[in-house]
Amino acid sequence: MKTITLKRGKEDSLLRFHPWVFSGAIAILPEDIEEGETVEVCASDGTTLGTGHYEIGSIAVRMLSWDSREIGTGFYAARLASAWQLRERLGLIRKDNSTFRLVHGEGDFLPGCVVDVYGNTAVLQAHSPGMHYARHDIAKALTELPDAGIKNVYYKSETTLPYKARLDPVNDYIIGGFETNIAVENGLKFNIDWLKGQKTGFFVDQRDNRALIEQFSREARVLNMFCYTGGFSVYAMRGGASLVHSVDSSAKAVALTEANIDLNFPGDTRHTAFAQDAFKYLTDMPENAYDLIILDPPAFAKHRSAIKNAMVGYRRINAAAFRKIAPGGILATFSCSQAISKEQFRLAVFTAAAQSGRKVRILHQVTQGADHPVSIYHPEGEYLKGLILHVE
Ligand code: SAH
Repeated sequence: MKTITLKRGKEDSLLRFHPWVFSGAIAILPEDIEEGETVEVCASDGTTLGTGHYEIGSIAVRMLSWDSREIGTGFYAARLASAWQLRERLGLIRKDNSTFRLVHGEGDFLPGCVVDVYGNTAVLQAHSPGMHYARHDIAKALTELPDAGIKNVYYKSETTLPYKARLDPVNDYIIGGFETNIAVENGLKFNIDWLKGQKTGFFVDQRDNRALIEQFSREARVLNMFCYTGGFSVYAMRGGASLVHSVDSSAKAVALTEANIDLNFPGDTRHTAFAQDAFKYLTDMPENAYDLIILDPPAFAKHRSAIKNAMVGYRRINAAAFRKIAPGGILATFSCSQAISKEQFRLAVFTAAAQSGRKVRILHQVTQGADHPVSIYHPEGEYLKGLILHVE
């Protein structure tokens, strides 16, 4: 194993278990080092700090352990077993729930690796060259997890790996093949399109918030804006909504939503989906048409440079919702932009509320589900922010 030596004083963040080594912290980089290689990282005095995956870029090493060790099948099997145990402990592995995130990168101490489980299929996503090279080891360890029953591993990293690394990943099954794409979440059925869908095919991170929304849905007229697969809509239907309107600019998303409604509530006429732009829909919709509005937009700020525009975007959609929601209504508003802090998001929503002049109260402050854990040493792992608001 090759060794990377840090500049003096640059070991501090690693001593606090932060899992990233930035390229500027490196004093000595072996000349023949290859992207994706497993490396030992040492402090300037030669003390071993740990082992990680090397890559070219601002984040140069993602740390996998805090000692010097070979990273192979045994390592991945142990980490996956621990991840599986945690999901069991969280009560997510049940007959009526076969959909959850098994590996959440740094939050499961496997930086660069994401695994979502849909029944007996696991969708594996690599965000680093190291994890790309490890994909077969990880896939094997997934199918060998005792009692997990994972038979198929679909590898989906065409859009998540740094393109400069030229790894040319192909989205495909690396173990098994297609069986069924119907997964169950809290007793509701969903068609999961891991082949063509966004991310691994489903936004697993909103599960608890969907369940919360179900509780607010009784007899409510519901607008699910940015519906994608219609997750919130299906829960609102079960919660007894009097009508549910789902909106997404993508016709494919609208079709997915309709299929999922049909899967759970065939022939139910309470639901209608619209392929429309959110800003247009929110501007054109009449006042008092909805008692419950869900705003779950895509990440408006993917990078720090986009923060200003993103803040305007959040303010605009929330202002329209505040202006038009029926008295006594509930607004569930989210941001999944990692670059926007909880405080910034709250400021955008606050400004929108103040503009509307309505009496607004915060009922719940929510985040991603516990199967998307945040390592206490890596606060960057917290990305989903939500406010459930009462609007008088
Ligand atoms: N709420 C969803 C996830 C939303 S993902 C869930 O629980 O699964 C964001 C969605 O916003 C995507 O489906 C995307 O097609 C849609 N979208 C992006 N820009 C939009 C716009 N301007 N108007 C309406 N929908 C948009």
